[in-house]
Amino acid sequence: MTEMTLVPRRDAALPEMRVNRHWIGGQWMEGAHWTERHSPSHGHVVSRSAAGTEAEVETAVAVARAAFDDGRWSRQPAKARAAVLLRVADLIEAHAGLFAVIETLESGKPITQARGEVAGAADLWRYAAALARTGEGDSFNGLGPDILATILKEPIGVVSIITPWNFPFWILSQKLPFALAAGCTCVVKPSEMTPSTTVMLADLLAEAGLPSGVVNIVLGLGQPVGARMSAHPAVDMVTFTGSTAVGRTISRIAADNLKKVALELGGKNPQAIFADADLDSAADAVVFGVYFNVGQCCNSGSRILVQEEIAEAFVAKVVALSRHVTFGDPMDPETQVGAIVTPEHRDRIDAHVKAAQAAGARVVLGGGALDVPGLGAQFYRPTIVTGVTPDMAIARDEVFGPVLTVQTFRTLDEAIALCNDADYGLSAGVWSENVHTCLAFARGVQAGTVWTNTWMDGFPEVTFGGVKQSGQGREIGRYGLEEFTEIKSVVMRIGRTRANWVKTR
Ligand code: NAD
Repeated sequence: MTEMTLVPRRDAALPEMRVNRHWIGGQWMEGAHWTERHSPSHGHVVSRSAAGTEAEVETAVAVARAAFDDGRWSRQPAKARAAVLLRVADLIEAHAGLFAVIETLESGKPITQARGEVAGAADLWRYAAALARTGEGDSFNGLGPDILATILKEPIGVVSIITPWNFPFWILSQKLPFALAAGCTCVVKPSEMTPSTTVMLADLLAEAGLPSGVVNIVLGLGQPVGARMSAHPAVDMVTFTGSTAVGRTISRIAADNLKKVALELGGKNPQAIFADADLDSAADAVVFGVYFNVGQCCNSGSRILVQEEIAEAFVAKVVALSRHVTFGDPMDPETQVGAIVTPEHRDRIDAHVKAAQAAGARVVLGGGALDVPGLGAQFYRPTIVTGVTPDMAIARDEVFGPVLTVQTFRTLDEAIALCNDADYGLSAGVWSENVHTCLAFARGVQAGTVWTNTWMDGFPEVTFGGVKQSGQGREIGRYGLEEFTEIKSVVMRIGRTRANWVKTR
């Protein structure tokens, strides 16, 4: 039984259905086949999109290859590239309202979170523009009197960008402006479920003055479109965000011609809450971390580990706060948790919770689909599961829904061991007023990001990525740009002395 605030369907005017075509070489291309995307919350058809084949990938890669090789982008001065990226950021901000509405209607996420995502994406474009001009490299001038050596960082070439449905515009913006800042050309495939904002960006890129052929968008399913983008011999790098299973497949395909692969994959992110923590702040962050983006978040802080002596009181706090979270129509600015992306995914979430119950865990809040007046039952109740043990599937698998699991620990070492007893290593958190505890935790835990006394604080400057089954490579920040570069070492003999290896007399 969940007593909480439900936001019923609001009477908002919805935009017309979008039609999304491929965008190759600056031209719109019709699809041979089409797919429709129904809104997870409102049920109507939000968009109709071309569904590509290998043929469109061939054309797009050929165009991106030519655009890279002729230097129309890669050989422009960094200042000129940065100017284009800055104009794109301005244009995203000018159109942010419609981007957010379409994102909400295609994905089911609350409109306030979609607005935050679009604003954050614009900031990534702006940050990448600044990075474009840093042109970092190394030079060595102590190698000998006549020797100067320098490291050039050159654009890696043609990049395939494959993105998921949960943060379509944000994740695109973690990759595309950084690839462009480095001087690469790109073929982009958004998720078939949320393609619209990627396609909407095409007009802005053209308006900002990006030369045609530098970015190309092919729509469609992972198989055949994403698979061909990963296998194509004329592609130099694949950057992928999505599930670990698909990441593995892409890695295997790309290995055939040894192209570089960067993978941002799933997570099962633990937060350890120590008895000496500010428990009110920790509870607030836990609630945010598990319900943000309807729990469909690689960084979901959905696995909490609570020190034994405070476990009961802390869980009571989190349950009480969870009852105040507003669930319902994602178009209403009051809503904090919207719809689940598909009915099948809602059923998968429910199956995880039922399996945990069958294994002996206790559902102390929620469980089961939630019927929102006027919108139906593609929602899931805020759910908290206690009595979870490390061997249970719900402690190990990514649930990707508004479901929190609770485990307990006694000591710092035990907390670290529990965190690391996982296939994933995306992010982890620690809550304690003791700096030694926080530092020991940060050093001991296997994760790409560690948050101490906060959760999911992200900045364009701070690089992000995972270890173990959560991926390889890094995004955003300085290292995010470097992913899209190749290092070339240049050794120059600047004096007239020669080694005279061959003795002629
Ligand atoms: P998904 O793996 O099903 O799909 C992601 C993309 O890959 C889509 O565009 C899809 O069409 C494409 N694809 C599918 N099969 C393919 C194939 N064989 N070859 C090439 N491309 C293929 O993931 P999803 O359901 O869209 O997204 C959810 C997953 O993404 C979760 O596991 C989540 O944790 C992860 N994710 C990770 C991060 C991160 O930064 N680490 C961020 C967001 C989401």
